[in-house]
Amino acid sequence: MTTIKRIDPRRPFIIAGSGLRRITLGAEHVEGATNAPSFAGARGAHGEAPKPKRSYEAGGRTLLVAAHSDRGALDEHARQALAAAAITADAKTEVILLVFGELTDDAAALGADKVIELPALARPVFAPDLALAALRDCVAAFSPAHVLMPDNATGDGDLGRRYAAQAKASIATHVVEIDAAHVGCYAQAGQAFATRAWPDVILLDSDAVSAKLPFVGAGVRVAPPPASEAAVSLGSSSDSSRYGDHGTTQLDAAQVALEEADFIISAGNGVTDIAAFEALARELGAAVGASRVAVDNGHFTRDKQVGATGKTVNASVYIAFGISGAVQHLQGIKDCRHVIAVNLDASAAIAKRANLTVIADAKETIAALTHAVTEAKQGRQAPASAAAGTNVHEGLAA
Ligand SMILES: Cc1cc2nc3c(=O)[nH]c(=O)nc-3n(C[C@H](O)[C@H](O)[C@H](O)COP(=O)(O)OP(=O)(O)OC[C@H]3O[C@@H](n4cnc5c(N)ncnc54)[C@H](O)[C@@H]3O)c2cc1C
Repeated sequence: MTTIKRIDPRRPFIIAGSGLRRITLGAEHVEGATNAPSFAGARGAHGEAPKPKRSYEAGGRTLLVAAHSDRGALDEHARQALAAAAITADAKTEVILLVFGELTDDAAALGADKVIELPALARPVFAPDLALAALRDCVAAFSPAHVLMPDNATGDGDLGRRYAAQAKASIATHVVEIDAAHVGCYAQAGQAFATRAWPDVILLDSDAVSAKLPFVGAGVRVAPPPASEAAVSLGSSSDSSRYGDHGTTQLDAAQVALEEADFIISAGNGVTDIAAFEALARELGAAVGASRVAVDNGHFTRDKQVGATGKTVNASVYIAFGISGAVQHLQGIKDCRHVIAVNLDASAAIAKRANLTVIADAKETIAALTHAVTEAKQGRQAPASAAAGTNVHEGLAA
């Protein structure tokens, strides 16, 4: 009889620089083997390998990447613009990141060698002339060879164009292809593809490059150039801006286009109580999305469908209730920052994509969340209403 060799699942392992490694597949376990795990140089069995630091010659060439942050983080598009600069930078090039707003992200991991923050010009502040002055001051202070920005509709695309017009700089917009020598973009309504050497200002389209880098930058925080600090503080303390900021208007979340929504809760085939689901969306102030099955079932209109044949969304938070995570659905949420899944099935595909999976019944979770949000809101109003309540009570007693 032939004996089939079996792989011993408890076979010895070593932890080396590249992580946990099982020893040769199929090796037979030998009783008393002395292959004890070695922790020399270990950094956690499941930890990511530390990336090497990109080195560059100080005082050489500079690339400036400018972008707005959102609550302390750069979005994927801005990260891509930074990665484009870092990956094309040679050993004599330093990558400087100018952030309009705060940055709590790890700038080194994003590929920046130096970071300048301008918290006074965060995205909710509408002062395009001050942002332009700050960008101009940074260019004057660091003399970058090129400026790279994400070509978005939320401030950076506009700012890059304004800067190029004011500085009479050459510019390429909607750039979809880039390497160290040239940039490329579609022309003549997409009928032609134009390439050229790097212009002064490069506005990159989303998904032109990957934000993943095989190295990290130096990530040194530096103070803004004095001139731009002056421009910002002058602007906030006087009416020197030519633009009036009328603040932001609160919209009913249901009116926000799914592509623009920052917080979406989505229902799939596992959601049975649609009214309760919609009530939760109202309580949370979240936009409503749905899987194709939920739309096909007639629970939601077609414009709510998220996925390959629906909307592609890029919310900061996306909660998927009773959605299995079919590949077509996942395609629509690839740009979402935090995905939370509520599903009875821990092995559903959505759990692999989700940052957090709650293994629970959708109906119960929706009811519990609605209750928790209502209570939290009442708690927030408590101090004011407690005082008012006392007065009412006294009034009644009188
Ligand atoms: C060409 C093509 C294009 C498509 N385009 C899209 C698209 O754009 N968008 C899209 O979404 N789909 C699309 N689909 C369909 C897609 O393949 C899936 O069929 C669909 O996404 C499944 O929807 P679902 O997850 O809601 O339903 P199901 O696959 O039925 O999954 C329901 C999930 O809910 C869970 N569940 C059940 N009961 C409960 C409960 N009580 N509490 C909690 N969880 C529960 C289940 O465990 C399951 O994981 C497309 C398909 C094709 C072929």
